[in-house]
Amino acid sequence: MEKKLPELPHSLKDVAVFPEDPRYDDVRSNDYKVGQPKIVILAENEEQVRDAITYAAKIKQGAEFPFSVRCGGHGLSATSVNDQGMILDLSRMNQIQVIDKEKGIVKIQAGALWSDVATKLLADQLVISSGDHGDTGVGGLAVSGGMGIILRSFGLTIDRVIGGTLITADGERHELDDLNEPELFWGIRGGGGQFGVVTEFLFQADKVTTTDSEFSIPMVIQTINYTITDLYGFTQAWHAWFKNSSNKLTSILLLNKGADQTITVQTRNFWYGEETPEARAVLAEALHLGNVSAKTEVAMNYADFFPDEHARIDGKNTAFGKNTLVTDIPQAIAAEMEKLLEPPFVYGVELRALGGAMNDKAADFNAWSFREAEIMIAYWVNQAHADEALRLFQPIQEFGQGIYGAYSSDTSTAENLRVWSNQTAARLKKLKQVYDPMHFFTQNREV
Ligand SMILES: Cc1cc2nc3c(=O)[nH]c(=O)nc-3n(C[C@H](O)[C@H](O)[C@H](O)COP(=O)(O)OP(=O)(O)OC[C@H]3O[C@@H](n4cnc5c(N)ncnc54)[C@H](O)[C@@H]3O)c2cc1C
Repeated sequence: MEKKLPELPHSLKDVAVFPEDPRYDDVRSNDYKVGQPKIVILAENEEQVRDAITYAAKIKQGAEFPFSVRCGGHGLSATSVNDQGMILDLSRMNQIQVIDKEKGIVKIQAGALWSDVATKLLADQLVISSGDHGDTGVGGLAVSGGMGIILRSFGLTIDRVIGGTLITADGERHELDDLNEPELFWGIRGGGGQFGVVTEFLFQADKVTTTDSEFSIPMVIQTINYTITDLYGFTQAWHAWFKNSSNKLTSILLLNKGADQTITVQTRNFWYGEETPEARAVLAEALHLGNVSAKTEVAMNYADFFPDEHARIDGKNTAFGKNTLVTDIPQAIAAEMEKLLEPPFVYGVELRALGGAMNDKAADFNAWSFREAEIMIAYWVNQAHADEALRLFQPIQEFGQGIYGAYSSDTSTAENLRVWSNQTAARLKKLKQVYDPMHFFTQNREV
C-alpha cells in the first residue's frame, strides 16, 4: 500500500499542490517531461523553501523520495521534475530589484524568467546576458553557465554572479560572496544545484551608456542563410571571422543538410552596441563567408529580442540535445559533423561562437571548466532517435574538451563526468561532502 506523506508544516499548507488538485496538471512538468510528483510546493518566500527542504529531507531519511527544484522549467535534463517525490517550484519568487543603478548591482530571485529580467533592466540601461530564450529561468542558468547572445562581450551568466543565498539540506541559510564562504560561492557558480537551493542572486550587470542611438541597449542583429558545399572551409572561415573581429560580436549557426547534399546554414549574428562603422564592416564581412541565399539586418533593444512568451510548460517537447566544447573544428571533425547531418531525424547541428570575455577569466574563477574553448558544437534530434544520434556524435564528443552540462539532455554518469575538469570536480566533491553529505540533492548533475 502506498505510504501517506507526513503532515505538512503550517507554512506549507497553503502552497502545496497534490495530484487531486485541479492545478496539478499546470505544475507537474518540465518542458521535456511530464512529472508524477506526490507533492508540488509553490514557494513564495525563503522560509517556505527551507521548510520544504527539511520536510523532504526527513522523508528521504527513511524512504526513496526524489526532490527537485524548478525555476524556469527549461532544463534539458528534465531533473527539475520527478516521479513520486517533491517538486519545489520557485516561479513565484521572481522579484527583480536594481540595488545600485550606477554600479549595475541587481538582485534577482531565482524564479524570475530571463525575458522579464531583460525588460525590467532596460529602463536603467542595464543588461545581464542570459541565453537565447526568454522563458528559461534565472535559477537553472545562473548555477550552471549561461551562454547568451552577448556572450563574447559579457562572459557567461555565472561570471557576473557576485553573491547568492543558498539553503542547504539541513535548512541552513548561507549568504555567499567572495568574502563569505568563498569556496561554496565558487561552487554554486557552475556546480549546478548539487549543494542546495539558491533563492536569490546578486549580479553585476553591464551598464550601457549610449549617445546617439534611439535604443537604450542597442544591438544589431543580422541573420544570414548560406548554402555551402565545403563545411570544413566554411567553419574555418566563420571561426577566423568572429575570433578576429571584436568581442562585441556573438554568432550562432544552425546547420541542416538537404536531399541534394547541400548544407544550409542559418546564422544569427549579434552585435552588442550601436550600428557604428566598425559594426557595419564586421557584419559586411559575414556576407563573404559562403553563398548567401537570404539576409536581414535589424537594430533593436537587447530586451526586444526576447518575446514575452511565458508559455505553459506541459512536458511535450520531444527534442534531445547534446554538445561538446572545442578550440577548433579540424577537417576530420567537420567530416563527422556532415555524417551527423545525414539522418532525417536530426533537427540540426548548432555551432556557437565562444571566447571573448568568456575566456578572459582565470581557469579557476568559478566552477566552469574549459575556458579555452572557442566553439560549442551541439546537435538536436527527436528523443526517439537519441541512441542512434549518440553513436554518430561519439567521435565529435571524444574530440571535445568537455561539455556544457545545462545544454545536454543526456543524464548518464558518463555525461556528468564530462561537465567538469578533474581539478574542478575534485573541489566540487569536497564541497559536496561538507554541504550535502547525505546526498539529498540528487536531481542534478553530480560530481
Ligand atoms: C528552448 C531552450 C533554449 C535554451 N537556450 C539556451 C541558451 O541560449 N544558452 C544557455 O546557456 N542555455 C540555454 N538553454 C538551456 C537552459 O537555459 C538551461 O538548461 C537552464 O538550466 C534552464 O534553467 P531553468 O531554470 O529554466 O530550468 P529548470 O528546469 O527549472 O531547472 C534545471 C535545473 O537547474 C537546477 N536549478 C534550477 N533552479 C535552481 C535553484 N534555484 N537552485 C539550485 N539549482 C537550481 C536544478 O538542478 C534543476 O534541475 C536553453 C534551453 C531551452 C529549452
